[in-house]
Amino acid sequence: MSTSIELKDIHWLIDMVQNIDVGLVVIDLEMNVQVWNGFMENHSGLLTGHVVDRKLNELFTDIPKDWLQQKLDTICVLKNKAFTTWEQRPYLFKFKSYRPITSNAEFMYQNVTFLPLTDITQKVTQVCMIIYDVTDVALNKQVATEANLKLEHLSHTDFMTQLNNHGFWLECCKQEYKRHTRTQQATSLIMMDIDHFKNVNDTYGHPFGDQVIKKVADCIRENMRETDIAGRYGGEEFTLILIDTELENAKIVADRIRKSIENATFNHEGTIVKVTSSFGVAHITGNIPDYKSWVKTADLGLYIAKDTGRNKIAVSPH
Ligand code: GH3
Ligand code: MG
Ligand code: MG
Repeated sequence: MSTSIELKDIHWLIDMVQNIDVGLVVIDLEMNVQVWNGFMENHSGLLTGHVVDRKLNELFTDIPKDWLQQKLDTICVLKNKAFTTWEQRPYLFKFKSYRPITSNAEFMYQNVTFLPLTDITQKVTQVCMIIYDVTDVALNKQVATEANLKLEHLSHTDFMTQLNNHGFWLECCKQEYKRHTRTQQATSLIMMDIDHFKNVNDTYGHPFGDQVIKKVADCIRENMRETDIAGRYGGEEFTLILIDTELENAKIVADRIRKSIENATFNHEGTIVKVTSSFGVAHITGNIPDYKSWVKTADLGLYIAKDTGRNKIAVSPH
């Protein structure tokens, strides 16, 4: 091969390195920049002449020196490639993202490959970093994750009240029962139903009934703890699991909700409407062999409350 051909080859190689659509940076083991291609110039606004022989971590103070040193040490010892993904570290170089479709990205997400460069004695003397712009991938993944979270929330949630729906609440109930068998922590359950709700619907119409159901859900939400698990069990029937709560305290919570519902007023075309509700409360005892029996015991309490006058709380003797 003649010298002129070699020079020609080097010329197009440099051209390629300059124009390739990934960042190429070569640093020596003291972190001094040796190569800085067009991609890096364009995105950083720093020309090669400005960065060569200057320390990378001083040019880019976002890059933690210790972290980079550790990377270099590992690469030197193993003489192997290393990677960082945007999920571990969103970016190595804080560049603006110019993608028109992904304009909501504040910065360019990057994957980085570290390549050891050896001299003729096979000693690693420099490290090449290849910086890939993966902003589209990162944003798509974030959008998909958000959509999945939303879907998950929707599949758990009752549309009208935003409480847990029947299926999900029952699954929580099963888990809480299991947790109790492990921890023996006091756990109680409240089941409640609006009194004579059929009359409300018949007198004021179904849409008005819906407003009452929503407000009753608010009364529950306002009187429960963040760790408690509320659900819409059926049409106008609600459930509440009270974590770390003895029966006596659960009855106090139920009564607070009962009063809050009793005191709520609804306006139907100028007429003030009020509703009451009945409650069954059950805590897990040795007589309750599974979560279904737990729900059933609370339901029996509710039945007693209805049977003995409504607008009250009852506990089944079971
Ligand atoms: P009780 O005091 O014995 O509970 O009497 P009740 O009339 O409330 O009887 P029940 O609990 O059986 O009645 C349920 C009523 O709730 C009947 C049904 O039409 C109504 N309902 C169920 N789901 C909805 C809903 O989503 N919206 C409205 N507006 N009404 C509903
Ligand atoms: Mg009812
Ligand atoms: Mg009912």
